[in-house]
Amino acid sequence: MAKVFEAADATNLMTELRRSFDAGVTRGYEWRVSQLKKLLVICDNHEPEIVSALHDDLGKPELESSVYEVALLRNSIKLALKQLKNWMAPDKAKTSLTTFPASAEIVSEPLGVVLVISAWNYPFLLSIDPVIGAISAGNAVVLKPSELAPSSSSLLAKLLEQYLDPSAVRVVEGAVTETTLLLEQKWDKIFYTGSSRIGRIIMMAAAKHLTPVVLELGGKSPVVIDSDTNLKITVKRIIAGKWGCNNGQACISPDYILTTKEYAPKVIDAMKQELEAFYGKNPMESKDMSRIVNSNHFDRLSKILEEKEVSDKIVYGGQKNRDNLKIAPTILLDVPLDSLIMSEEIFGPLLPILTLNNLEECFDVIRSRPKPLAAYLFTQNQKLKERFAMTVSAGGIVVNDIAVHLSLPTLPFGGVGESGMGSYHGKFSFDAFSHKKAVLYKSFIGDAAIRYPPYSRGKLRL
Ligand code: NAD
Repeated sequence: MAKVFEAADATNLMTELRRSFDAGVTRGYEWRVSQLKKLLVICDNHEPEIVSALHDDLGKPELESSVYEVALLRNSIKLALKQLKNWMAPDKAKTSLTTFPASAEIVSEPLGVVLVISAWNYPFLLSIDPVIGAISAGNAVVLKPSELAPSSSSLLAKLLEQYLDPSAVRVVEGAVTETTLLLEQKWDKIFYTGSSRIGRIIMMAAAKHLTPVVLELGGKSPVVIDSDTNLKITVKRIIAGKWGCNNGQACISPDYILTTKEYAPKVIDAMKQELEAFYGKNPMESKDMSRIVNSNHFDRLSKILEEKEVSDKIVYGGQKNRDNLKIAPTILLDVPLDSLIMSEEIFGPLLPILTLNNLEECFDVIRSRPKPLAAYLFTQNQKLKERFAMTVSAGGIVVNDIAVHLSLPTLPFGGVGESGMGSYHGKFSFDAFSHKKAVLYKSFIGDAAIRYPPYSRGKLRL
């Protein structure tokens, strides 16, 4: 039986990692590169085990695991290896007359010992991607994967222990008790991925030590469909971004659709047609869709689907089987705005469509709700695209596709308002785990008398 993680273990872990950090183990370019290369070896040599763990935890199809977890990680590591020297180099800053003669620069300093707490839905990507940032920036790091994906969590612990430097990179497996013990320590940054509810607990624990946080949370990400669109491609992309990404259990999954009353029947017909083309007449049998992670989440989804005024609104799907934790792609039309399905993040295969009189009313629905992690629009109308991008607030906006912004390391990935704070990916990950230290080098030349007492009007006239 695994040893119980106790308060003393958390303290000892922090002491050991702090010692390594203070000794400068993690600061050098070579150490950072060596650890990143080891992460690449993990991706290259252990993909079949990773795919298998994801299948155990989520029934995730092999292609989804290979592309959305392993390949994305590989890209992320390769980019860090390629860019690390540039990222680490100080940025020159302009000086002014008041500091003349001087030079100035911004130095990216590692923060120290950082904690990464990740979620179950993309357990490899969401664990290792922030760790890439933490290591690139020269920190010691503890990873706490989610207990809800136990095969992935234990594989992560095994592989990181096998390959990475244990004096500075560690994994603690566990649930609330273990995370709570970790949160009592004084970290130099906490990077959390998960629900907004637990995000608040993390932030409160961090506040005790004035520890900065990145909170990668969720929310209800809307999709607006304009009638001036390529409907076939629109629905294919929505289906791929909803049911083709962990069966809707993804943070930037389409949560609900907004369209006009007039256009909705066409959208529904096209969705039914493409869903059948993708997953067959009996989607419950399809091997190309993940299952629901566990019975608690299955019951949560059943409950929101079974609300009377919601179950009446199913226009496609609705089948479910608690024995194998499968729920079919389910579309609902015009559910009440105050129903559970419209009040909380769905995080599963249910997709309500809300109809309004025009697109401006659709935009207003989004603006009247907590700011989502992503907002999507499908249209060919250039003016509408710009209006959406400029007037709708969300962590990220994608026009004419779903979720693809996540794969672009030149874009920051993160939330706003209720969907989170801070961001990462590419250089943003390096920055998330660095302190931007202002450094000014002054010379002894040109020492102005005006700045020293005794002050006098006469000095001003000099
Ligand atoms: P989860 O249940 O796996 O929890 C996340 C982490 O918090 C886990 O490591 C868990 O052990 C820990 N935790 C749970 N309860 C805790 C407590 N009381 N105190 C301290 N730690 C605790 O994941 P979840 O929260 O169900 O994840 C789903 C949510 O995460 C959704 O809202 C989703 O949108 C969001 N999410 C966001 C992103 C993103 O990148 N922004 C990615 C994935 C998921």
